[in-house]
Amino acid sequence: MSLPKPVEGLERQASGPLLDTFARAHSYLRISVTDRCNYRCTYCMPADGLEWMKREDLLSLEEIARVAGLFARMGVRGIRLTGGEPTVRRGLPQLVRMLADIEGIDDVAMTTNGHSFAPQAQLYRDAGLNRINVSLDTLRADRFTEITRGGDLAKVLASIDAAVAVGLTPVKVNCVVVRDLNVHDLVDLVRYFSTRPDVILRFIEYMPFSGNESRKRHVPVQEVRDLLGELWTLTPVARTVGKGPAVNWRVEETGQVLGFISPITEHFCDSCNRLRMQADGHLRTCLSKDGTPSLRELIRLGLTDDALSVAIRGMVWGKIAGHEAHYEEGWRTFDGAMIQVGG
Ligand code: SAM
Ligand code: SF4
Repeated sequence: MSLPKPVEGLERQASGPLLDTFARAHSYLRISVTDRCNYRCTYCMPADGLEWMKREDLLSLEEIARVAGLFARMGVRGIRLTGGEPTVRRGLPQLVRMLADIEGIDDVAMTTNGHSFAPQAQLYRDAGLNRINVSLDTLRADRFTEITRGGDLAKVLASIDAAVAVGLTPVKVNCVVVRDLNVHDLVDLVRYFSTRPDVILRFIEYMPFSGNESRKRHVPVQEVRDLLGELWTLTPVARTVGKGPAVNWRVEETGQVLGFISPITEHFCDSCNRLRMQADGHLRTCLSKDGTPSLRELIRLGLTDDALSVAIRGMVWGKIAGHEAHYEEGWRTFDGAMIQVGG
């Protein structure tokens, strides 16, 4: 699968959609609100930990909302809150409300580990949250605790139920597939959610960050489909343009829909419409690449909204074609750690 080529003759826009040199328009922003987390998933952060961002380097809730408003003026319509674990950020329901109130933003979603979401589900719903994704890699309590280095499976399952109960549906359950860790647990996950039409289970390929042994633990999505295909008949569902990177397949025997996200073996860089802002204000125009300078520095230098918008347009214009982790030769891991980027 090849990367996109720059579009000849395309000029940098002063208004209109947020374009890069490959004519990709960006309508979706993932905002990481913290790099901290109450879990320590083995595939997300190194065993010996990380140096946390300094508190004063985190964007305030008001700064986040201001930047989100500028993005909305430039065509962003969907925002997803992530982290670290977003629910550990103080004042998060308030931020959800601020984002939901921005003109032009029609979808505010969140990705959470589900550890402490259940008691606050209604609060988030009332604040304007539309949907959540919950991460869950196994239904075996002991293995779950091992993968998350201390997580509590019962709380996560309760959060999925609570999200369904308050109408944050469909709830998407994200399972990262890791060799020698949870491949034998995938069938149980499919069975467990087969009777839950409000939940869509998605399998995600393990992504290569420095220090997570990703090459040998990566499992291609086709291998996952082959494994499930020994028990069920899977049929691809027609794709809806602009609906994210998951490719859905239907389990014919039950009608259950499963999503497959394959950033490596069937990467989707050519249609990428996503931008990511880290908690410290670094804009990652590509998931694989660290972004400089930080929007935080520009905000705190006192730039006006117009000047900030020009700077953002410049950063997006400089977006690279895509990541190179799919190359057999010259394989290159992504910068940083997933916990700092937010997935
Ligand atoms: N703490 C929240 C959670 O776990 O859902 C949000 C942040 S987490 C970084 C976002 C998503 O990235 C989760 O679904 C997680 O499973 C996924 N993730 C983390 N490390 C990954 C990796 N190396 N490859 C693929 N997905 C990864
Ligand atoms: Fe925390 Fe989510 Fe990373 Fe797990 S995947 S360590 S829950 S940020």
